[in-house]
Amino acid sequence: MATAAAAPVNADETFRAEVRAVIAEYFPAEMKGRSMMLASVEGPLDETPAMKTWREAMGSRGWGTPTWPKEYGGGGLTRAQARILEQELANAGAYNPIGGMGVMMFGPTLLEYGSEAQKQEHIPSICRGEIRWCQGYSEPNAGSDLAALQTFAEDKGDHYLVNGQKTWTSGGQWADKCFALVRTDRSQKQGGISFLLIDMDAPGVEVRPIRMISGMSPFCETFFTNVAVPKANLVGEEGQGWTIGKRLLQHERTNLSGGGALASLNANSLSTIAGKYRGVDAEGRLDDPDLRARVAKFEIDWAAFLLTARRAAAESKGGGVSTISSILKKAGTKLGQERAELAIEIMGRQGLGWEGEGFSDTELAGVRGWLFGKATTIYGGSTEIQNNIVAKNILGMLDHQ
Ligand SMILES: Cc1cc2nc3c(=O)[nH]c(=O)nc-3n(C[C@H](O)[C@H](O)[C@H](O)COP(=O)(O)OP(=O)(O)OC[C@H]3O[C@@H](n4cnc5c(N)ncnc54)[C@H](O)[C@@H]3O)c2cc1C
Repeated sequence: MATAAAAPVNADETFRAEVRAVIAEYFPAEMKGRSMMLASVEGPLDETPAMKTWREAMGSRGWGTPTWPKEYGGGGLTRAQARILEQELANAGAYNPIGGMGVMMFGPTLLEYGSEAQKQEHIPSICRGEIRWCQGYSEPNAGSDLAALQTFAEDKGDHYLVNGQKTWTSGGQWADKCFALVRTDRSQKQGGISFLLIDMDAPGVEVRPIRMISGMSPFCETFFTNVAVPKANLVGEEGQGWTIGKRLLQHERTNLSGGGALASLNANSLSTIAGKYRGVDAEGRLDDPDLRARVAKFEIDWAAFLLTARRAAAESKGGGVSTISSILKKAGTKLGQERAELAIEIMGRQGLGWEGEGFSDTELAGVRGWLFGKATTIYGGSTEIQNNIVAKNILGMLDHQ
């Protein structure tokens, strides 16, 4: 005799059923298995109607930013529910359509340091994936030594007048707004820096995309010439920008640690890829013992890294990030590079395809992920700078500096 499907047993299972129903109704099947990593900086917002419907379905529920407070448009989910959402998206081959710098770094920082009015103004549009943010930190003479930045915001009473130049502004040509570190006082280095929100279409903002050898222009030079910025756009106090800017970098580094080359190869585990491209023995093991050992070592290191990242998030205060983000960034980006190298080796010639019909998405992500992975140990603060931060702030070394 047929029995009715078992009813969900508790609130979490009820939530799981709800997530499955939303995915079944709104997730576009043609997008299955695609990674939307760094969606906001890869190119112009180029959504099909089905992708827009999916973004709106996720955004209206706050599920793109699952644990952010409901009052600002976030999902207000518990960690357990957020995990369920993550699991169900992965099981369905679906992606979170709401990302970019607003989600990864600016939003959590504004939730911690912004005024109530700033949170009401900016957080809901990030949760719905409607507004894209870019990062105005680096300058031609201020990269690793970020506090050397010179872009100046002059106090004009009710507004600041901003003049200067930023560089490597990822996605600057497609962004609506920029969170920028500017100098409001030339007499102090770190203490003279403030955190300012600038509209990218304000008069005096000019963006020049930097064209790379590949023909892509993922980042820009950004020039500010007499740009009037309302005082209401100052986050925190004048001169507090270094503290706020560093907190944002912790969010950035924590996010980047699991990104880059790893995310571009999305949910496929290395052993799954290896099983597909290389021979296996009668027991389903890779028959090349050397490759098998290296893949196994990677999978163990990666599992340990993910568990450490999860533990660090659970233990930390301040929106889930801390100085540990420097360790995670260093370790995660290095693992990402290792994985990309292994993936290309495993896929052989198929892993070297750049474009065209003869290559699957996973294969195309191979060489592109490998190349992009080179940037991961530079952006968000280079590996050498992470070593310095770990030595100074975690190990208590270099106190003489
Ligand atoms: C793909 C990509 C995207 C980026 N996107 C953005 C963005 O959106 N917004 C933004 O503001 N910036 C962005 N950046 C800039 C990035 O933050 C800087 O490139 C990075 O901080 C390094 O600065 P730099 O390039 O000036 O190198 P430099 O600071 O000149 O460093 C050169 C080399 O010297 C080493 N070095 C420097 N100082 C020390 C030291 N004290 N101890 C040991 N070694 C040291 C560095 O590790 C590096 O190897 C991006 C960079 C890349 C590659």
